[in-house]
Amino acid sequence: MYKIIDGKKISQEIKDELREKAAQLKAAGESRCLAVIQVGADPASSVYVNNKKKACEYVGIESLSYSLPEETREEELLKLIGELNAKKSVSGILVQLPLPEHINEEKILLAISPDKDVDGFHPVSVGNLSIGRPGFVSCTPAGVIQLLKRSGIEIQGKECVVLGRSNIVGKPMAMLLLRENGTVTVCHSKTVNLREVTRRADILVVAIGKPKFIDESYVKEGTVVIDVGIHRDENNKLCGDVDFERVAPHCSAITPVPGGVGPMTIAMLMSNCVG
Ligand code: NAP
Repeated sequence: MYKIIDGKKISQEIKDELREKAAQLKAAGESRCLAVIQVGADPASSVYVNNKKKACEYVGIESLSYSLPEETREEELLKLIGELNAKKSVSGILVQLPLPEHINEEKILLAISPDKDVDGFHPVSVGNLSIGRPGFVSCTPAGVIQLLKRSGIEIQGKECVVLGRSNIVGKPMAMLLLRENGTVTVCHSKTVNLREVTRRADILVVAIGKPKFIDESYVKEGTVVIDVGIHRDENNKLCGDVDFERVAPHCSAITPVPGGVGPMTIAMLMSNCVG
């Protein structure tokens, strides 16, 4: 029988721990404040931004919200980031992605001070992670590590296969598993004989952005499967990159969608904010 890794419960535990820590910091006169910038009114982004604000309220940290119109010029956004970088009372800055096409995303992420880069996307943060220095870590992969650890799943010495090599999920995921002494393989769209590689995994992390792509033919018996994907299926129901019904019976543990990795991303953002 497989175990369902409950991201909702684990993320709640983390937020409760952070709430206590934030209260202690406040009592010691150290406050935290997250500035969230949204450009345009993409409905999905608005939901994410709202959830981040709510999480800040729950944990007990301040949040500032900047909702800029779609036609905001790149220079205007850079100017705002510059002001927030200089503002002592602001400890974290987050620019909600995706940005409108006329704004260069890379330039914007580079403009955020690495000291306030709570999303962990700045090259300095990425570099720190690669060479094992402390620093902000991308929230979703950091959440996956917490799911594994808090479920008592050993990473050290395990064959870990990461499916996907994006800058925000796959690559930092691989670095984090390596930091935990896993033996890590990263797969992508040019990987040959994908099934052969994924079937080696003791821990398989799937982040390929394709609904229900992974079926039972990609996993070995008793593996741990972490599904990062989020999609709506043909019935408008949330699903992941993994076909849960077909894969779960072959696993020792698996994350569901929803209620697996999803809630962990915000919990880890809060962790980055509280420090
Ligand atoms: P992405 O940037 O689209 O990257 C997808 C990766 O999968 C790429 O590296 C791509 O390879 C690889 N890939 C695509 N098709 C493949 C195939 N047929 N075989 C092998 N590899 C393949 O996606 P992402 O931003 O990492 O996100 C992945 C998923 O996670 C999405 O569903 C996204 O919505 C979800 N997500 C969830 C959270 C959360 O909070 N739970 C956060 C972020 C993302 P190439 O590099 O060769 O193109």
